[in-house]
Amino acid sequence: MHFFSDVLMDSTTATAELGWTIYPSLGWEEVSGYDEKMNTIRTYQVCNVFNANQNNWVRTKYIQRRGAQRIHVEMKFSVRDCNSIPNVTGSCKETFNLYYFESDKDVATKVYPAWMENPWIKVDTIAADESFSQVDLGGRVMKINTEVRSFGPVSRKGFYLAFQDYGACMSLIAVKVFFRKCPRVIRNGAIFEETLSGAESTSLVSARGSCVPNGEEVDVPIKLYCNGDGEWLVPIGRCVCKAGYESVDNGTVCRACPFGSFKASQGDQQCLQCPINSRTTSEGATNCVCRSGYYRADSDPLQMPCTSMSFSYTSLRLEWDPPKESGGREDVVYNIICKSCGSGRGACTRCGDNVQFVPRQLGLTHPRVHISDLLAHTQYTFEIQAVNGVSDQSPFSPQFTAVNITTNQAAPSAVSIMHQVSRTVDSITLSWSQPDQPNGVILDYELQYYGKVIRSNSSLLRSQTNTAVIRGLKPGTIYVFQVRARTVAGFGRLSGKMYFQTMTEEEYNSSLQEKLPLIIGSAAAGVVFLIAAICLCCIHCSSCFFFQVSPGMKIYIDPFTYEDPNEAVREFAKEIDVTCVKIEQVIGAGEFGEVCSGNLRLPGKREVLVAIKTLKSGYTEKQRRDFLSEASIMGQFDHPNIIHLEGVVTKSTPVMIITEFMENGSLDSFLRQNDGQFTVIQLVGMLRGIAAGMKYLCDMNYVHRDLAARNILVNSNLVCKVSDFGLSRFLEDDTSDPTYTSALGGKIPIRWTAPEAIQYRKFTSSSDVWSYGIVMWEVMSYGERPYWDMSNQDVINAIEQDYRLPPPMDCPNALHQLMLDCWQKDRNNRPKFNQIVNTLDKMIRNPGSLKSTTPLSSGVHLPLLDRSTPDFSSFSTVDEWLDAIKMGQYKENFANEDLATFEAVSQMTMDDILRVGVTLAGHQKKILNSVQMMRAQMNQIQSVEV
Ligand code: AMP
Repeated sequence: MHFFSDVLMDSTTATAELGWTIYPSLGWEEVSGYDEKMNTIRTYQVCNVFNANQNNWVRTKYIQRRGAQRIHVEMKFSVRDCNSIPNVTGSCKETFNLYYFESDKDVATKVYPAWMENPWIKVDTIAADESFSQVDLGGRVMKINTEVRSFGPVSRKGFYLAFQDYGACMSLIAVKVFFRKCPRVIRNGAIFEETLSGAESTSLVSARGSCVPNGEEVDVPIKLYCNGDGEWLVPIGRCVCKAGYESVDNGTVCRACPFGSFKASQGDQQCLQCPINSRTTSEGATNCVCRSGYYRADSDPLQMPCTSMSFSYTSLRLEWDPPKESGGREDVVYNIICKSCGSGRGACTRCGDNVQFVPRQLGLTHPRVHISDLLAHTQYTFEIQAVNGVSDQSPFSPQFTAVNITTNQAAPSAVSIMHQVSRTVDSITLSWSQPDQPNGVILDYELQYYGKVIRSNSSLLRSQTNTAVIRGLKPGTIYVFQVRARTVAGFGRLSGKMYFQTMTEEEYNSSLQEKLPLIIGSAAAGVVFLIAAICLCCIHCSSCFFFQVSPGMKIYIDPFTYEDPNEAVREFAKEIDVTCVKIEQVIGAGEFGEVCSGNLRLPGKREVLVAIKTLKSGYTEKQRRDFLSEASIMGQFDHPNIIHLEGVVTKSTPVMIITEFMENGSLDSFLRQNDGQFTVIQLVGMLRGIAAGMKYLCDMNYVHRDLAARNILVNSNLVCKVSDFGLSRFLEDDTSDPTYTSALGGKIPIRWTAPEAIQYRKFTSSSDVWSYGIVMWEVMSYGERPYWDMSNQDVINAIEQDYRLPPPMDCPNALHQLMLDCWQKDRNNRPKFNQIVNTLDKMIRNPGSLKSTTPLSSGVHLPLLDRSTPDFSSFSTVDEWLDAIKMGQYKENFANEDLATFEAVSQMTMDDILRVGVTLAGHQKKILNSVQMMRAQMNQIQSVEV
């Protein structure tokens, strides 16, 4: 590795004698020699190996420190191997010592500092890695050792080095003295000047960076650390280019936006081309000004094109002259009396609370006021009353001035929801809701869009209806869309930014393959058309309805489609002032913190019981986002069987999500605590509620993915509500809740999840229907664990082999049949939620249909039912039935035991099966399952006959 350093002294660069001080005079000797490259160099040699008690010193000249705190010394030297010297005494050494002495001035003499340790400070004893044995006075085959030592902290102006020999035969070939430093760099958008390493080899010297010209620090001051080796480490903070400048040359330069482009704010983004009908007047523009005759409203984003249509306002600013006669007093204040007179006819009334006055309506000290939120097409009268401290005592005061104003028609309000109807590789079809307050007939909509990642110029599209097909897009690309409505009063505000992505080529090909089997095989073109039409319908109608569509339904928006998920929270969840919330007690542990019960009193409303989910302190920004995403989802729903969001507290800590309070907590534990306590009708009533909630979610295009009794809450009236809209438990890095098993791309609650969702993540409302079947089973078994203690892998295998959960004890057959329908392998064969609601409604209206239960269910756990077992009633003999279940080899055994009728077979127990002579465990299980299935089928038939 290459380290940066500055050299303080290098003996090899000496052109004349080095002239170091020697003590005693017969010790070290300066001689000329050659280095490896045969350059002449000045060296010091000593070889007094035959005399004992050697103590030979050689001292360098004064070396300036030049700010360094730690000094490195690189020594090249050779040492004779003592063993190779004939007749040498025991005093021969192969090492020498390195010392230093600090001083502010060059004060050394022949006797000062004294030639001994203390005053000198010893750095180390240096030993040769390799000594040489061959005598060669030319020094050409000597083995040269290189050793580096360092010392510090040093603080005086300079220092001397000394080399002490005590009996070696050696040559000091070169000495280089240097210090390490971190070079000037540009890192994270900031310039770091050259910085010297610290006093210790482990020191980190912090250095403040300064942003490159036209860069600005983000959040924290930018810093780097210089380590002992002269390397920059641990960058903290960063600089980004300020508004009007973009980062180029790998972030080392902030370049002014070229003519015709702009950058509105500080950040990493690049300059954008000026939107249509706008331009810049110089380089480095932070916005593009509208060309003459074109305008942009104050609230419009800067990337929005300028248009020639101006806005109409329902706000105004009044200014008036102070009264000429102040009566010699300085305390004049003004009150505004506001009256509205409809569209001009009829009596005028005082304006309602909705009209806003800034700074206020009464007691204005300056003669001006800003009035907003006026109604469109309304005539207003504003009376300005000037009063002073003695007004109430004077017969002529107060003074009045009146202004009559008729407001224009207001522009429409913003479109709040936009959703994707379909997409291809190069197009996206969007539709959106009409603004809540159109304030007139909507003439058309203007859709603006641009590429999110690969920035493109903003494009415009007009649509007469609230849908549009946007064509000519790039495949697999995310686009940002905003829409606004236009009436004769002009454009409304733009909607929030929504992100949609075109299909990638791969997605497109696989979607084609999905549709292909339906189209292939139908010969006539008409048939192809019919099937394609049905196929399209199947793709577009969700699982909520069966050949039925609901027009005008609101569609769920994934909060993560927002660039800033906080925006989704603001849009869908009401911010509640923390002073309105009173926490009473902790009732549970949520994923992000405690769940408490408490009271909420909103201004003008009565106090309500609420549940308060809190976000524990020390959360990361991501945790906060994930926590609040549940509120952004919940806040979009409004249904009696979906948990109701009251609002969020985000402006103080702890961050809270406040929902209605559900007195009986989660359904699974509630049922376990009340085992056997409810009538079947009560249980079906609960199931009906859950199905209605799910139908609503399905209509909203929301797939729950985690429908389970634990995620249903129950209130004091036994009303069940679907809850738990958090997404984070599906994430791979989530905590280790064993209910959620890691699978490729996330976590899955295996027992509740449809096979196609486990296998290839096909989560749909139909997979929610499967989970709903499991919830039915949980409810009818009073909170029993689905598949008991079977392992997840066994559950997956059993389902794959067509086994299904048997009816819980006393479960009406009709309900078990509905469960089995929900567990159809082919998701298209499962009922839709609206059908489930209808079926349950019928049962509630006709409780007789719930009478028949399977008597087998005697409380012991039945093995799983084999759904592949054919219905026995389709066979006329037991032999045929045995063939059908692939157990034909036992026909004779059955006949020998007089098991010739279905009645007899249906009564068989495991003992009987053994008696017949079935010894293989697999066959025993197969026959027992089939017998149990037969019994269940018989019971169903009987109940129908009854
Ligand atoms: P969660 O984080 O939603 O799983 O909530 C954890 C636990 O808090 C649940 O299992 C419930 O026992 C309880 N809980 C959550 N929300 C409510 C609520 N709205 N009313 C009553 N209890 C709740």
